[in-house]
Amino acid sequence: MKILVINCGSSSLKYQLIDMKDEKVLAKGLVERIGIEGSILTHKVNGEKYITKQPMEDHRVAIKLVLNALVDKDYGVIKDMSEISAVGHRVVHGGEKYGNSVLIDGNVMKAIEDCAKLAPLHNPPNLIGINACKALMKDTPMVAVFDTAFHQTIPDYAYTYAVPYELYEKYGVRKYGFHGTSHRFVSIEAAKMMGKDIKDLKIITCHLGNGASVCAIDGGKSVDTSMGFTPLAGLCMGTRCGDIDPAVVPFLVKTAGMSIDEVDTMMNKKSGVFGVSGVSSDFRDVEAEAAKGNKRARLALDLYAYKVRTVIGSYIAALNGADCIVFTAGLGENSGSSRKEICSGLSNLGIVLDEERNKAAGVATEISSDNSKVKVFVIPTNEELMIARDTKEIVG
Ligand code: ADP
Repeated sequence: MKILVINCGSSSLKYQLIDMKDEKVLAKGLVERIGIEGSILTHKVNGEKYITKQPMEDHRVAIKLVLNALVDKDYGVIKDMSEISAVGHRVVHGGEKYGNSVLIDGNVMKAIEDCAKLAPLHNPPNLIGINACKALMKDTPMVAVFDTAFHQTIPDYAYTYAVPYELYEKYGVRKYGFHGTSHRFVSIEAAKMMGKDIKDLKIITCHLGNGASVCAIDGGKSVDTSMGFTPLAGLCMGTRCGDIDPAVVPFLVKTAGMSIDEVDTMMNKKSGVFGVSGVSSDFRDVEAEAAKGNKRARLALDLYAYKVRTVIGSYIAALNGADCIVFTAGLGENSGSSRKEICSGLSNLGIVLDEERNKAAGVATEISSDNSKVKVFVIPTNEELMIARDTKEIVG
């Protein structure tokens, strides 16, 4: 069974064709600048890149070109489109309706549309991608895999905000959480690495990329996560502020004369390690500056690590202990120095890293020392594979 995984953004589209026989990626690629000048498709097969530059006025044209690339007589990987058994779509927000991935039908499309008010930047392009695929692959089953679904098991006392309850009932104001597909994938892999049934494990997963979140997982179910109503909440991130006193918002509007949109942009795009360091949102740049003695770069890294560390601590409380901690995504997979700083001072909680093992980058491995009560792993995330596995199971 070959499954096409689609992750559609407003002007971009990422895809992978995966052969589920051995979960091998047959081809993958990226379309950028859809609907704007300079549209480009970068298609990759066995490490070789094939570039197509031509106008793509909408996502349907882009997907048509992707399908053409997949069946191309020179560098294609399938003979014709009928070899694609199903399409798995990443959808950001499933609201309270979806706690699992689902086969897409009219009702699901409507629900994704309804959730657009909760994810105005993401759900509409996700829907455009689904529609474009449906138009070109009429008889191919499609599955929606939601970023929020994994967190639907969070108990009410953890997802309810202490604001008037009507705001939840009327507008859906509550914690939803994101990165669910990644947290789920790495927790399943962690259980495999521990040789245990996930039902018997308490796992804390740290997805630390440009966006970042921590998740507390009990018996394979998310019981809390650090992102909230939107992906702005929780940890300090590349350019997002994470948790701050909400009273800062009206203060800036009233005292600094900023508009609500300016505050919103400031919190999403100009904050985080970028805002504090003034250097960059890329941790590699910030780490390099800190090493040269740049004090604000150092401060950004320190407060970043402190926040992750204290959220891990609070999730040990939420779970009443932890069997393992997992680091994943760009920073989590690659930065030994960040992992060291995050885990420092946690030996009383049974978390001790092994200096040598912690040099690991980009591979699934244990990085805790033999005397660490809590195991610590680096596990590269693979959201596309998780989407493909769900799609296979549903279309099965
Ligand atoms: P996204 O959330 O966009 O998918 P990634 O998971 O790819 O992001 O993470 C990207 C971030 O990971 C980069 O901004 C960079 O700061 C960080 N990163 C990647 N490699 C390293 C590294 N070797 N050392 C430190 N940080 C890294």
